[in-house]
Amino acid sequence: MKPIICLDMDAVIADLFTEWFARYNRDYGDDLTVDRAHTWDAPSYVKKECGHKILDYLHEPGLFLSLNPLPDAIDVIGRLTENYNVFLVTAPPSLPSLAEKVQWVEIHLPFLSLDRLIFTHRKDMVRGDLLFDDAPNNLLGFLETGRKAIAMDYPYNRHIDCHRVGSWREFENRLPEWLER
Ligand SMILES: [Mg+2]
Repeated sequence: MKPIICLDMDAVIADLFTEWFARYNRDYGDDLTVDRAHTWDAPSYVKKECGHKILDYLHEPGLFLSLNPLPDAIDVIGRLTENYNVFLVTAPPSLPSLAEKVQWVEIHLPFLSLDRLIFTHRKDMVRGDLLFDDAPNNLLGFLETGRKAIAMDYPYNRHIDCHRVGSWREFENRLPEWLER
């Protein structure tokens, strides 16, 4: 059986930060980029007058549908489906965002059927040989079950002791080596 590869969507396949932070920067006159995101706790690195309201942007209709794919993500996923059992495993922050994620996959990854889409906030419970993700809790949850987790490198996940990559090309090149071990 082909190895089962689980791929996160936000900040791994879809460029969440560019659009999310652009909306915040527009409203609060800031110049936030992901380089400043040294922790998962977004309210701690935005302006005080914004605070927890930074999370409200994740509930704005259309946000998730508007995201662009990250460089090479679509091409690499297309090639991965030839050799691996590829599943998208994503945790929608709301019911409307779930619908937008389905639409996003239909638009950007039309070669993936919708039975390749798994919605859960407990990725550690999903069967899979390897998870490619950016969120510390997802990476740790997978690692704790003795499986492989690969981080898309961001400042907020650098404390997690796992393999990490800065691009989809690098992920594609190193995947065979990780699965051999
Ligand atoms: Mg993510």
